[in-house]
Amino acid sequence: MGFREEVKARSKQPVELCFQCQKCAAGCLIAEHADLYPNQVLRLIQLGEQDRVFNSSMIWMCSGCETCGARCPNGIKISEIMDALKEMAIERGIIKEKKIHLFNDIFLNTVKSHGRIHEAMMMANYKMKSGDLLSDMDLGWKMFLKGKLPIFCRGVRAKDEVKQIFDKCNAG
Ligand code: SF4
Ligand code: SF4
Repeated sequence: MGFREEVKARSKQPVELCFQCQKCAAGCLIAEHADLYPNQVLRLIQLGEQDRVFNSSMIWMCSGCETCGARCPNGIKISEIMDALKEMAIERGIIKEKKIHLFNDIFLNTVKSHGRIHEAMMMANYKMKSGDLLSDMDLGWKMFLKGKLPIFCRGVRAKDEVKQIFDKCNAG
């Protein structure tokens, strides 16, 4: 299966319908900070330029906000495509934005373990594993003083159900 067909199959999105109107890029909040606009990712997929796609920061920086999908006249959900591209890149060992990948992993593992996010634990874990110990310390301290970073993690009643969701996802 070629690159374009694999992206289509995994994302279940009609990538061939993109006609470069750029409505997605005009609404994308992170486009100005990334190395590709969302419409450019679509065009590169259509052209089969997998190396340029996998080596782009955009597929990692996409927040999955779905603004682009809501604006697309052809109903293409680009966030689904970005998720598929991240999965494919991980499988190929091409992880351009390692810290974003690490953050995603820690976020999901925290939810899996506790049934919810515990921000302080998650950030401590991220800082230890990334080695990025000092950035955002002033912001973290301000949040702690305002009670936004509780030290103890309150449990959730449906913790087992959350774990079952992860098990189902891992089973495919
Ligand atoms: S889902 Fe991703 S590409 Fe689409 S608007 Fe949001 S950040 Fe941009
Ligand atoms: S809004 Fe849809 S059709 Fe227009 S450029 Fe973006 S993905 Fe392509």
